[in-house]
Amino acid sequence: MKASRCIAILGAGPAGLSAALWLRNLGFEPRVLDASAHAGGLQNLNYLGNDWVLGQMGQTGPMLATRFVEHAAAVGIAVETGARPVRLSGGPGSFRLRLDSGQEIGCVALIVATGTRYRAEEVLAEVEGVAGVAPGRIAYGPHAFADLGALAGKRVLIVGGGDNAFENARLLAPNAAAVHLAVRSRPRAQQRLTTAVADEAATGRCHLLQAARVLGIKEGHSGAEVTLAVAERNERIVVDHIHVLAGYEPNTAFINSVFPAELRSGMHLDTQGYLVVDVSGHTGEPGIYAAGDVCNPHFPSVVSAIAQGAVAAKTIEMDTRTW
Ligand SMILES: Cc1cc2nc3c(=O)[nH]c(=O)nc-3n(C[C@H](O)[C@H](O)[C@H](O)COP(=O)(O)OP(=O)(O)OC[C@H]3O[C@@H](n4cnc5c(N)ncnc54)[C@H](O)[C@@H]3O)c2cc1C
Repeated sequence: MKASRCIAILGAGPAGLSAALWLRNLGFEPRVLDASAHAGGLQNLNYLGNDWVLGQMGQTGPMLATRFVEHAAAVGIAVETGARPVRLSGGPGSFRLRLDSGQEIGCVALIVATGTRYRAEEVLAEVEGVAGVAPGRIAYGPHAFADLGALAGKRVLIVGGGDNAFENARLLAPNAAAVHLAVRSRPRAQQRLTTAVADEAATGRCHLLQAARVLGIKEGHSGAEVTLAVAERNERIVVDHIHVLAGYEPNTAFINSVFPAELRSGMHLDTQGYLVVDVSGHTGEPGIYAAGDVCNPHFPSVVSAIAQGAVAAKTIEMDTRTW
């Protein structure tokens, strides 16, 4: 019998909570630590319905997140919010993880399930005049979906080329006065959404600006005057709102400060900063595993995060048999 069966899990999104459930069922003591004020992860910000999770019909993102957190609580899994790791020491079988509260946790292994964050202010940081834009005119990330009904009759510029940007354009176009969708390079959105936006563009309700870059924003008499470089020319439009839906970045920046060099030499990040793992959730550093969007740039979703969390838990159970 080992002295400790504690597994520290960084991140209380679907991946971290799924890993915790599986670890609990496998006889471990998972301890889930989330840096934010709320457990449940990115689904807390999904203001639309989530129809992609088998057996969870009619759920919004926040409803799903609540279900995941309640499930963990119901089986006695410890989930701590506002808990930010600051230093890892020790090694496999006897890690020590210090939190910003000063608390130190002893654990056998650790799972990184810190997900991604939406790109926000940095997207327009270099844009001339952005600091003078009226408060509330620019919505960053999922917040652009929070109250679509309030945008009826408004002119909206959407910046981004992925699913979120095209979904936003598709939903706004029928009721907005005008929707401009500025895509920096090639659209990355799924075909269902690009087709829907193309249909709206054909009716004149949506304007797709390809190879477009925002150069400047100025408050004018009747709205924000936006100058864009579109292919070879400059274009000027006037809008009431700007939605920045320009993708996600993995939450891996903390690794360099929290993990000492000797506990991250086996870990690798890809060119976008995602953790590289094998099919079992191994990071390459003994005792350190990863699951969910933080290591899944190709297919970020609730179901893949849940599945990867389960895989990492099962891998830990098998690996620790020989420790
Ligand atoms: C608007 C929106 C709509 C979406 N719609 C869908 C959909 O319809 N269907 C679908 O399947 N997916 C959808 N997704 C994607 C889905 O939410 C994610 O794929 C899923 O939440 C990933 O789970 P995860 O546990 O890997 O990461 P996350 O849910 O991102 O959770 C990671 C957690 O880690 C925490 N964290 C970050 N850094 C640290 C740190 N240093 N220490 C401790 N904790 C940390 C975060 O606070 C967060 O709670 C949507 C996402 C968004 C934003």
